[in-house]
Amino acid sequence: MTYSLAIHGGAGTILKSNMTPEKEAAYHAGLARAVEAGEAVLREGGSAMDAVVAAVCALEDEPLFNAGRGAVFTSEGKHEMDAAVMDGSSRRAGSVAGVFGPRNPVKLARAVMERTEHVTLIGPNALILAKDTGLPFADTDYFFTQSRWDALQETLGMRERGEVSDDPARRHGTVGAVARDIHGNLAAATSTGGMTAKAPGRVGDTPMIGAGTFADNQTCAVSGTGHGEVFIRWTAASEIAARMRHRGETLEQAAEYVVINDLGNNDGSGGIIAVDCDGNITMPFNCEGMYRGSVRDGSTPEIKIY
Ligand code: ASP
Repeated sequence: MTYSLAIHGGAGTILKSNMTPEKEAAYHAGLARAVEAGEAVLREGGSAMDAVVAAVCALEDEPLFNAGRGAVFTSEGKHEMDAAVMDGSSRRAGSVAGVFGPRNPVKLARAVMERTEHVTLIGPNALILAKDTGLPFADTDYFFTQSRWDALQETLGMRERGEVSDDPARRHGTVGAVARDIHGNLAAATSTGGMTAKAPGRVGDTPMIGAGTFADNQTCAVSGTGHGEVFIRWTAASEIAARMRHRGETLEQAAEYVVINDLGNNDGSGGIIAVDCDGNITMPFNCEGMYRGSVRDGSTPEIKIY
């Protein structure tokens, strides 16, 4: 069997007119590093789970993306991060919500899956698990990025003036990865700072299994990015798998339907990346762009933005 891997670094209003060549090159390089981190695992016969976690860690470490270092701020100027993993071979899953401290929230989500009998942990106990697992922590300086701070001030200013943004996509980000390994197993991982100026305590779709993250060897692995509330209400990720299972749709048909019809027609700007049990990859989005990359066994990686 061959392997396949896809990653995303968020979707939204990514206009070529706002992009400098330097910025574009930096995004390309960050995405390429993440594809390479995940592919290195798969090339050696490693598991889809190891691959998606490696790829997401690379994106979390990259301040350009809204996850880990580079996460957006809540309305109170703090970071609250959500992350999830799901293993398609067993349907085991782990997630955390509203955490601050661990450098790589995706590793904590994996620890929830592997070291507890639960699927989702929040609050102090999640951080105790991170410490017990030996995960590295970082402070507020590490997670601070000027551009996210400026975006928060801009959003709060608009709120104060009673202005409503006509662009639902301007607040987004999120990173994720999906993979099929050479043993035929699927996995998905997603990590995010959420939405700029979100209410403290708000939980998005990322750590909700079936909304922003899903994997099942029978059908597909999915990681989403976009307006989380809509992804939750339409159970976007598991809906793609359900359409394949019950309607016999291909991965591409199912993903296209959910992203364009379910999400796109309901204020759910964003996109998803998905891989099916045959190793096919699809990456539809309903906004201007989505930072994304993919690679299949024996082919050269592809990185795209628009
Ligand atoms: N889906 C994320 C959330 O709502 C944000 C994003 O992907 O842009 O938390």
